[in-house]
Order: sequence, then structure tokens, then C-alpha cells
Amino acid sequence: MSEQKEALKEKAAEFAKYGPKFEKAVETALAGGVKEARFLPSGRKIISVVGKTGDEFIDPEKPYCSCSNFYFRVTRGKEELCYHLLSYKIAYTSGLVDVIEFNDEEYGPYFAATVGDVFDVLTKSGS
Ligand SMILES: [Zn+2]
Repeated sequence: MSEQKEALKEKAAEFAKYGPKFEKAVETALAGGVKEARFLPSGRKIISVVGKTGDEFIDPEKPYCSCSNFYFRVTRGKEELCYHLLSYKIAYTSGLVDVIEFNDEEYGPYFAATVGDVFDVLTKSGS
């Protein structure tokens, strides 16, 4: 596990400037915590990252993350990104995104479940 981690840190060295966030993101990517649900045939995607308190829903293109750190720090310009988005970048560049394919008909229920999780996390973290 630690050898794998060192190898991944080397591979993702361009993100090392993020410090502790980088460490956490490398661990998350290695543990398979970055998941992409791909809906076919439309190609719509829902990307989530397993966090400390539950899954966070991210959109790397915007970028957007449902975590409170993103809301309080990133949107106010205090930080560039949160570790969930960083986890995605690292997983994406090293082929560690866990892609699961679904049928388009499942998009609605899946989306509702993901959003439900996010609300759960928000409630628990009291923000
Ligand atoms: Zn986040």
C-alpha cells in the first residue's frame, strides 16, 4: 500500500503543492474513492468522491463540490480547490476513477440517492 502510494505521489507530483490536501487526495484516489456513474446511451455522468462523512458530489468541469469546505473556502477565493476535486484530478490522470455504467433509465433514482446522501452529510456537519 505505501509503495503504491509513493508511486502515485510521483505520478501526481504536479499537485504536490497542495500539501496536506494532496496526501489525503492520493489516499482517496488509491482507495478507489473516486466514482463515476456513467449513464448510457446519453453519456451523462455523476461523479462522487467518498469523504470523511459520506459521499460528496462533484463536477470537475465547473468546478463544483458539495462539501462545506468548497462552499466556505473555495467559492470565497480562500482556496483553489477542495481535496475531493483534487482526488478526482489525481484519479483521473492515473486511471483510478472507478467507472460504473448504468442505463439512462436509472439516472433519476441514482441522482436522487446521491443528492439524498449530500443532504445527510450537510445535516450531520451542521452547516
Ligand atoms: Zn469537496
